[in-house]
Amino acid sequence: MNWYNTDTHAKDGDLAQLAGMGHKNFIIRLKAGTVFQSHKGIIPHDEMIGLPWGTQVLSHKGSPFYLLQPSFADLLIETPRTTQILYPKDIGFLMVNLGVMPGLHVIEAGTGSGALTCAFASIVGSTGKVTSYEAKPDFQNLARKNLERLDLLDRVELKLRNISEGFDETNADILFLDVPDPHNYIEYVRKALKPGGFFGCILPTTNQVSLVLIELKRNDFIFLEVCEIMLRYYKTEPARLRPVDRMVAHTGYLIFARPVIKPIVPFDELRPEEESENDL
Ligand code: SAM
Repeated sequence: MNWYNTDTHAKDGDLAQLAGMGHKNFIIRLKAGTVFQSHKGIIPHDEMIGLPWGTQVLSHKGSPFYLLQPSFADLLIETPRTTQILYPKDIGFLMVNLGVMPGLHVIEAGTGSGALTCAFASIVGSTGKVTSYEAKPDFQNLARKNLERLDLLDRVELKLRNISEGFDETNADILFLDVPDPHNYIEYVRKALKPGGFFGCILPTTNQVSLVLIELKRNDFIFLEVCEIMLRYYKTEPARLRPVDRMVAHTGYLIFARPVIKPIVPFDELRPEEESENDL
């Protein structure tokens, strides 16, 4: 079973979001015979099981909540964590840019709190696989719990290992690194990825990005891309539509590249890099 229920009504065992509309939201697993409790009052799960999604329910104190299914972004924000986790804005873009699809084999490091691992595991589906490396046992244990909470653990192999020892796998479709020094592992990435596969990583500073670019060029990766995703929310007042006052200005730089078989003619000679006006 996966975390999303395609039915129109809430069932025993489903993940549900109790949306407080102006006060805190809660994500719970519906379980017959148990009770949701918060400072806004209690609601027996049996009163919610069987209701159509989108129904308003009241606590015993009369506080209203909407009974909804959480989105993946809701789950990410609520992910219990002991490490920095990837933001939904970065995860969304990297999933499509890396071509993550059902049935593929994805390798990642480090696992951290497992937020990205959950996202990969959701998308590769029951026919795909995620292999996730982490150096620290405590982080791996938390990631395991987070995967179990979403019923995704059976798609993921968690490996407790520093990737300075390399990867066991070969011919993976996709490899993503969220570690502070990915430039040290690009040779290992090459060996683990199938030729033409997809590589990506995320880094907070440009100094680290430069080191990665040097190693990618040295190791026959092509189509190098560096970008950052800026997301700005708007206040949803039709008569006063304008951006919110604060935004998350920086999370990290995303780097993408494709490993190829050693070319006969070096890639830079085939297609010299275009000079842009900004370089002048
Ligand atoms: N992407 C993760 C998420 O969304 O929850 C967060 C990853 S966290 C920022 C970085 C993790 O990489 C840490 O848990 C750290 O222990 C692990 N790490 C750092 N260097 C590593 C290495 N060489 N091998 C394996 N894991 C490593």
